[in-house]
Amino acid sequence: MTPTIEPAIEKLPLAQYVPPARPSLAGLSRDALAAALGEAGVAPAQRRMRVAQLWHWIYVRGARSFADMTNVSKDLRAALEARFTLDRPEIVAEQVSADGTRKWLLRLPGETAGERPHEVECVYIPESDRGTLCVSSQVGCTLNCSFCHTGTQRLVRNLTAAEIVAQVLVARDRLGDYAGRERARGPGLPVEGERCVSNIVMMGMGEPLYNFDAVRDALLVVSDGDGLAISRRRITLSTSGVVPMIARAGAEIGVMLAVSLHAVRDDLRNELVPLNRKYPIAELLEACRNYPSVSNSRRITFEYVMLKDVNDSIADAKALLRLLKGIPAKINLIPFNPWPGTKYECSDWDRIEKFSEVVFNAGYASPVRTPRGRDILAACGQLKSATEKLSARERMSLRAMAMTD
Ligand code: SAH
Ligand code: SF4
Repeated sequence: MTPTIEPAIEKLPLAQYVPPARPSLAGLSRDALAAALGEAGVAPAQRRMRVAQLWHWIYVRGARSFADMTNVSKDLRAALEARFTLDRPEIVAEQVSADGTRKWLLRLPGETAGERPHEVECVYIPESDRGTLCVSSQVGCTLNCSFCHTGTQRLVRNLTAAEIVAQVLVARDRLGDYAGRERARGPGLPVEGERCVSNIVMMGMGEPLYNFDAVRDALLVVSDGDGLAISRRRITLSTSGVVPMIARAGAEIGVMLAVSLHAVRDDLRNELVPLNRKYPIAELLEACRNYPSVSNSRRITFEYVMLKDVNDSIADAKALLRLLKGIPAKINLIPFNPWPGTKYECSDWDRIEKFSEVVFNAGYASPVRTPRGRDILAACGQLKSATEKLSARERMSLRAMAMTD
């Protein structure tokens, strides 16, 4: 089947970018909303009630304009309108893959006035029993894992909590995922009634535990039962192993943890995930053992990217089992997604199957994460805001790769 690459929204030239004139309330926490209401002249005693109203309009109804907020007084609506917006980050490109995966490229203001805008991506992956949104925590990443495309990006900044939450709002806007809205149509989307976005994974661009406060605040907004209401058990934070922050993530955020292990020996992991030099495997696994509420029903996911002749031997699989002994774990084998200029190749399929069999026979569920959205460069580790820099030929060759395996 020929893939349909459907550029629903065409990229705008950079020169057209106009930074927002007024700050947006979309994505803010309750405290930040209360402060905004204070600026708009709402008396302290009134703020709690007003926050609850805004919260409902923004996160349950997906309101885009203050005029929609019919139970808020006209005067307050005008005061809010004068100072704020409900704008989301500008969508500069939207792509829909043949398998239903959708990728949005979002433009965010630079940190200082006059600086060029930043871009991040977020990806929606529909499956039969869930719809997962892969959210970014940083523009780029400081960590340079040798197999990851995001790590090659020069520009890096932390996203604010609101910018992290806004990715969820953008996805729901585009999918029509609010009560009463017209649903987007396309391959794999859930039928009417079910939620399109049921799960969140912090597996987009960036290392979430290097932007801890913003990620925590954002995930508390996303999991709030009166708003977006995505339960913490359906949110997974993936880290390359920032050991000192793992306990805090458990205590202060309480979401599911995924750890990018990728190697069973320190010498190899030092090369693949250079952060390992600071926090070696033994310390990382100790932090996993102590992760709050880890149990058989709340297992830690260990991600393991399959790199041909690098980490994919049967001996590696057995060593992996020895390492994880005693930790309630799931093992997620990820076929390597190649990108232009990488020195790695994806393991052969029969090697992945053998590896997976060893893991499975030891009693672990070992799903092989099927690469999704390869034709739009949306698969793990391929997120890079500079994708527009790829030549047409590179883009075609990536799509061809996606089609042939
Ligand atoms: N920085 C965090 C989260 C973002 S990366 C982390 O490293 O865990 C999300 C997952 O994609 C990680 O497991 C990462 O190792 C994996 N990944 C990165 N590049 C990849 C590639 N080219 N192919 C397959 N998986 C990749
Ligand atoms: Fe950063 Fe994760 Fe990529 Fe490593 S794998 S460079 S930590 S985004």
